[in-house]
Amino acid sequence: MRIEIAGLSDTGLLRKNNEDNLLIDKDHNLFLVADGMGGHAAGEVASKLAVETVLDFISRTENHTKPTWPFPTSREFPLLWQRLMASIMAANGVIYKRSREDEILAGMGTTVVATIISNHEAIHAHVGDSRLYIFRNGRLSLTTEDHSWIQEQMNSGNLTLEEANRHPLRNVITRALGGAPVVSVDISSIKLKPKDILLLCTDGLTTMLNDDEICQIMSQSNELSVIADNLVSGANEHGGHDNTTVVLIRIQ
Ligand code: CA
Repeated sequence: MRIEIAGLSDTGLLRKNNEDNLLIDKDHNLFLVADGMGGHAAGEVASKLAVETVLDFISRTENHTKPTWPFPTSREFPLLWQRLMASIMAANGVIYKRSREDEILAGMGTTVVATIISNHEAIHAHVGDSRLYIFRNGRLSLTTEDHSWIQEQMNSGNLTLEEANRHPLRNVITRALGGAPVVSVDISSIKLKPKDILLLCTDGLTTMLNDDEICQIMSQSNELSVIADNLVSGANEHGGHDNTTVVLIRIQ
């Protein structure tokens, strides 16, 4: 299966540092974005550790035919699902340990959304409010559900989407890597069709642009690198309050 990829990470207009990170790994068709948090550049360390640990874990378990890792992945899932989940749990452990060992990194954390493309399927896992969208036949659909206070309020009917988009607490996440020794990872998959475009992004994109605006930008070009540029500049034109990171993957 042939795929085409573009990725871009931008500091935005208000922040001094870029705490986001991304991974494009063609060897394993593994793609990831992570949005780090923590003072004194600790956010950068957390999101970088997520990238490095997930890649290292996926590489090291490449030839494993059964789960050999000390993480409680659900055994009824296919092995590739378990590997992706375990790689994120491993990243959580590494970030948690570093934040306890090094005072300057105390309290650091990161979101993560990762996907592995295999056999016309995107297996995807996430923690936090970084998202995976799928763009198909000119329509954009969100496939992940944020681990955020706002999402919980919407699920229990306390807030509408419109209220949530304007809410001052819309950046509060309820799950991240690095906060506790164990983390719960959401995992699922999507069957892919030719011309589908997957979009992995951090909340710097989705707090500045709504889904209709993202969809419109994705409809305006055939070049993935142009779409990536336009998404980032769209977020900056709407204020650029946060770091913005996007990874785009098109199925041929
Ligand atoms: Ca962010």
